[in-house]
Amino acid sequence: MMNENRPSPITSTVDFQAEGKAHGFLKLPYSHDESAWSNIMIPITVVKNGEGPTALLTGANHGDEYEGPVALHRLAQELEPTHITGTVIIVPAMNYPAFKAGTRTSPIDKGNMNRLFPGRPDGSVTEKIADYFQRFLLPLADYVVDIHAGGKTLDFVPFAAAHILRNKEQQGRCHAAMEAFGAPYSMVLLEMDAVGMYDTAAEEMGKVFVSTELGGGGSSTARSNAIAWRGVRNILVHAGILLDEMDGHDSIRLDMPDAACFITSESNGLFEICVDLGEAVEEGQLIARIHDAERTGTAPTEYRAKRSGILAARHFPGQIKIGDSLAVIAEIVE
Ligand SMILES: [Zn+2]
Repeated sequence: MMNENRPSPITSTVDFQAEGKAHGFLKLPYSHDESAWSNIMIPITVVKNGEGPTALLTGANHGDEYEGPVALHRLAQELEPTHITGTVIIVPAMNYPAFKAGTRTSPIDKGNMNRLFPGRPDGSVTEKIADYFQRFLLPLADYVVDIHAGGKTLDFVPFAAAHILRNKEQQGRCHAAMEAFGAPYSMVLLEMDAVGMYDTAAEEMGKVFVSTELGGGGSSTARSNAIAWRGVRNILVHAGILLDEMDGHDSIRLDMPDAACFITSESNGLFEICVDLGEAVEEGQLIARIHDAERTGTAPTEYRAKRSGILAARHFPGQIKIGDSLAVIAEIVE
C-alpha cells in the first residue's frame, strides 16, 4: 500500500485506548477564505470499559441521510462505560462537511464518501476523511455499522443490508449481525460496483459489516428513527458489548436478484407514483406515470413493473429527470 506509512493530517482529540467516556473531534486542517489555519471539527465519542470487542458506528456517510446522526447523537449522550464491555466508537456524521450542508456529497470537493475509499492522506478533504477511517478507525473495529437512508432523492422501505462475500464464514457473521439489527426488512446484496465503498474497505479487513437504508426524502420519521435506535442497540448486544436484552423483531428477507428490479426514468417531468413503499406489485403493473408538465393534453409516459415483488425504493422528489432511479422492486424471500 502506497500510503501505508504516511501520516494522516487528521488528529483525534480523544484517546481510543483510554477507559471511560470522551467526547471530542477528529480535527482536519482546512485553511480557507473565511478562516486561515482552520480545522474541520468532526464530532466523535469513544466509550470504553475494559477488554472486549470494538464497534465503530457511523452515520451521514452521505450528508442528507438523518437516521444515523439522530440515533448516534442519542447513543453518544446516553451510553455509559458501565453499560458495556469493550469499546464503542461513534461518529454521527462521517462526511461532516456534507452533513453540515445537508447534501449527499461534500460542498468542499464534491466528494462522495462511499466512492472514495481507501482515500488519500494527501487528497481532497473527503479523501482525507476516508483515509483516516481506512487506516486508523477500521483497524480498531470488530463490528462496523454504517447507517444510510435514501437522502433527498430516494425513499426506501427500512432495511438492514449485508453483502454476498467470498469468505462464507465472514458472510455468516455479517448476516447474523444484519438479522440482529432487527429492521423490518433485511437485504442480501451482491454489490456490482464495490470499488471505493466503505463497505468494501471494512469487509476486506474481515470486519463484521452491516449497512442500512432506513427511509429517505432528506429527513427522518419517528418510525425510521426508532428502527435505527433499536438496530444500533441490538448490534451492540449481539456483539457482546452492550449488556442488555435484544429487542428482537421479525425481519422480512428481501432480494434484488436481477436488473429487472430497477426501473430508470427515460423522461423528464412531473412524477406520479402509483404504488407506495412496501406494497406488493405484479409483473406488468403500473408503477408510475411521468407527465409532460410543460404542456397540457399530452399522454403521460407509463412505467410498469418488470417483475413481481414489493416496492422497495422510489424516487422521492415530485419532479423527475431522465436517468433518475425511478423505482426498485425487490423479491420477498420465503
Ligand atoms: Zn447513503
